[in-house]
Amino acid sequence: MTIADSLSRLGTETAFEVLARAKALEAQGHEMIHLQIGEPDFDTPPHIVEAAARALRDGATHYCPAPGIPELREAAAGYLSRTRGLEIDAGRVLVTPGAKPFLFFGVLATCNPGDEVIYPNPGFPIYESVIRWSGATPVPLPITEDAGFAFSADDLAERLTPRTKLVILNSPANPTGGVVPRAVNAEVAKRLHDHDCYILTDEVYSEMVYDGEHDSIASHGLLDRTILLDGFSKTFAMTGWRLGYAAVPAELVEPLTRLFINCHSCTPPAFQLAGVAALTGPMDEVRAMIDEFRVRRELVVNGLNDLPGVTCIEPKGAFYAFPNISGTGLKARDLQNQLLEEAGVAMLAGTSFGEYGEGYMRVSYANSPENITAALQKMRELLERVPV
Ligand code: PLP
Repeated sequence: MTIADSLSRLGTETAFEVLARAKALEAQGHEMIHLQIGEPDFDTPPHIVEAAARALRDGATHYCPAPGIPELREAAAGYLSRTRGLEIDAGRVLVTPGAKPFLFFGVLATCNPGDEVIYPNPGFPIYESVIRWSGATPVPLPITEDAGFAFSADDLAERLTPRTKLVILNSPANPTGGVVPRAVNAEVAKRLHDHDCYILTDEVYSEMVYDGEHDSIASHGLLDRTILLDGFSKTFAMTGWRLGYAAVPAELVEPLTRLFINCHSCTPPAFQLAGVAALTGPMDEVRAMIDEFRVRRELVVNGLNDLPGVTCIEPKGAFYAFPNISGTGLKARDLQNQLLEEAGVAMLAGTSFGEYGEGYMRVSYANSPENITAALQKMRELLERVPV
């Protein structure tokens, strides 16, 4: 028996492999500090948990509409309109189990084999994986340290061709923490105006911007052909709940809903009601979490810049730092493995996010200041043993 050929084109997230190896080492009695994690180390705010519990007790335990319950579509339309300075109709908002399905379905709903998709590299690995699986051609847009872990409008424009069907953007970004400035978005939008393609803007870290305000490419006159994606995992520390939403172009509402019906039918209604509580309720705990990330960001960046062979620019958003390790003389994957096996520190090689991640590591600061400090010390000890 053989499995489908198409699966050879489907990638994965190395984060899950590193986590599995770290857990195996822990099971053998090794200590491990986890800086590979892509989720807040905070609990979901209690009023959100309570809303779900209440909904379950009240019987929200049945199938519900495939595009999402009206209450959440309304709440998400209100939130996106408010935070992006747009007017978004609830009829164009769809809800899925996590933000991730929009990456999969977004590509499937817009691209044919042979189409080109521009995507950030280094970037969230699922972009390239899904593009390849769909039969479209991935066209990497290098995200460089020189550009403050963003890119220029020229970089993007150079990659547009008549075959470009979709442009994927992500700000604030995983894995770099980079934020695309408003002026760059304005310039990018000008270039995209004359080009007949869809845009998928992944804004799941939109609340985690440390200097200035979040800016969406959709706000620059492109909403009608943009999938504007946000979710609950990062903002409300709800990774395990699996809840996400997007405002989508009008003509994609029906095809995307059909894909949902073929795949997961609907998103659990009790969790959607919790999502309503999140988007319409108090934001104090979210603000407190982000303030704590801001403090840790400084700790991580200063600590990394103190290590031999390592430099790190200040990330402007999300909860990741992306230190340059070229001065250590090690390849990113080798450093990842040595840190894991010899130092008891789990973090990800920049190459887990694409070939342009060579020479970098992704450090998640979704861990306590004590653990971050201890991990930096273990890194120092390892790097001091490495001949440069
Ligand atoms: N997009 C980016 C850039 C991410 O980093 C992640 C999660 O790590 C996701 C999407 C998926 O988020 P969710 O948990 O809502 O599916």
